[in-house]
This record gives sequence, C-alpha cells and structure tokens, in this order.
Amino acid sequence: MNGDRQCLSKAITLVESHQENDRSLAKQLMSRIQAVGTSMRIGITGPPGVGKSSLIEALGLEMIHESQQRLAVLSIDPSSAQTQGSILGDKTRMIQLSQSDLVFIRPSPSGTQLGGIAKNTRETIRLCEAAGYRYILVETAGIGQTEYLVSTMTDLTILMHLPGSGDDVQGIKRGVMEWADLMVVNKADQPEDQRVINTLKDLHSVLHFLPGRGHGYTPKVLSVSALNKKGIPELWGEIKAFEKHINENGYILINRKQQLVNSFRQQLPLRLWESMLVMPGVKQNLEDTEEKILSEDLSPEEAVDLLQDFIFASLRTK
Ligand code: GDP
Repeated sequence: MNGDRQCLSKAITLVESHQENDRSLAKQLMSRIQAVGTSMRIGITGPPGVGKSSLIEALGLEMIHESQQRLAVLSIDPSSAQTQGSILGDKTRMIQLSQSDLVFIRPSPSGTQLGGIAKNTRETIRLCEAAGYRYILVETAGIGQTEYLVSTMTDLTILMHLPGSGDDVQGIKRGVMEWADLMVVNKADQPEDQRVINTLKDLHSVLHFLPGRGHGYTPKVLSVSALNKKGIPELWGEIKAFEKHINENGYILINRKQQLVNSFRQQLPLRLWESMLVMPGVKQNLEDTEEKILSEDLSPEEAVDLLQDFIFASLRTK
C-alpha cells in the first residue's frame, strides 16, 4: 500500500501460487487489502498481430503523460506455456513504457483453465489498485473465448481490428462483439486507405444491430496507427468520456458487483467438480462410465444419471 513495487510483485506471485501454504496466506492478504481511491480497468483484446502491445505502448505513454497517474499493464497470455517467447516479446515492444516510474508491467502466468486465469488476474487487478495504480490495462492475447474473458473483469473493453476487405467484418458474429465498448481499427497508417474506410463503415453498420449495453453508451469506432502514434489522443479522450459516463450513471459499481457474482458462478461448479473427483471411487466410476459410452452401452444422458446417482449416494453415506 506504500507503493513498493517489489512488494507488489511478491504479492502477485503469492496469489498466483498453487502451493497450499501460499493459498492460505494469499487469502489473508486479499481480505486485508483496500483500493486507494478510484480506478479504471481497461481491457484490450483482439487477434494476435493486431497491434495490442504496440497500442498499449503508445496509449500508455499518452495516458501517463497527460494524467500523471500510475498505470499497471497486465497481460493474460494463455498460450505462453508453449511459446515462452511471447512474454519477452511484449516486454521489448513496450520499452519506453516499461522505463517509466509510473508504470508497472506484469504478464499473467499461463494457465490451462480460463477460469483459473481469470481468478488470478482479478486478484492481481485488486492488488495493483491497493498499491495505488489508477489505471489498469489488461491485455489478452488470443482469440475467441479469451477475447471475451477480459470483458468479465474490466470496466471498459476495447476490441481491436485490422483493416480488411470489408467482407471479414460482415462475418463477425454479433455474439463476438456484444461485450466490446470501443472498436479500434489499428494500422490505419494512411487514413485515406480504402480498406480502413471500409472496415470503419462495416463496423459502424454492425454496431446498429447490437443490443443496448447496460451502461447506455453507444460503442464508438475509431481508427489509429499505433506505429505512427496517430489517433492516440482521440482514443484516450474517448476512454475518459466513457469513464465519466459510467461514473456519473453509477454503472461502474453495478457492473463490478455483477462481475463478482458472475465470477462466483463460474468458480462454483469447477470447485464442486474438483472436490467430487477426489471422493473415493468417483474417478474410477467416471472412467468406467466413459468406457461404456465408447462401447455404446450407455448414452451420455444415461451416463450422467448414473454418475450423479453414484456421487449422491456416496455423499449420503459420508
Ligand atoms: P499483438 O500481437 O496484438 O500484441 O501485436 P503487436 O503489437 O506485437 O504488433 C504486431 C506487428 O504489427 C508488429 O510488427 C508491429 O510493429 C506491427 N504494428 C503494430 N501497430 C501498427 C500500426 O499501427 N501500423 C503498422 N503498419 N504496423 C503496426
């Protein structure tokens, strides 16, 4: 809480640890910390190569320069178990940002389970807030579910796009974009580039079909060039306008509370299932049941009934 970075790093390592001793210490720590003042949690997502790290470098510099507030950058990289290099890659792309005293950059550990990654990142966000970080940028590398994941723990989610032919935007399913609050088309090095114009137009038209969001703020579409630092002050202005809007109408707190309930719902079945799997006989029964499905002696539905009966019976005799 004194803003000691080394201490913050150690605290994050503690909450990421799977060791039994560390888990109980981590729980104690999390129950004692408090956020200092207000914060803004911003998610940045998009497919690999779209320019997330480059944008964070450019936007982050603009943010700290203009606000003189502290900024934490957390990267969730579910693929980093296989490609250790990607984390290093991010570091080298955020060279200027990482040199600022106002900035703390931390990659989240790789994990096999999205629920686990989300839980760790949520705790890491809270630790950074307790250490006095005003802005928290959370970057997710990856596509599909991991893109959506970041919006479950942030106040504002920025979805990045590449300039394309236009056809590809039509293919973006509504469900993929419902959770995005701001659309950014990166690599718009030349604004008169027809592909940029087409993509902006298509994104605008897709936005019309999206259901209204709880915060009542219509998602904006912006074009930037992270490389040439074009459109960055405008993007920062848009983030501030959004923040003002959700603070004034109270959405920021309502949304954060709802996110906690959602997190509880997400964790509960995972935890229950983990506890059941270590009950005597359950793992064996599960394997035998799977064999019976493979040999077509049981349908999946019958298998679920039987396994459930077995587990409930075990619980009753406990
Ligand atoms: P990430 O995988 O989404 O984090 O993407 P990176 O930030 O690593 O960028 C991928 C590549 O795109 C790098 O070679 C960047 O230099 C390049 N890049 C990023 N932003 C821009 C941009 O605005 N214009 C151009 N031309 N290239 C860019």
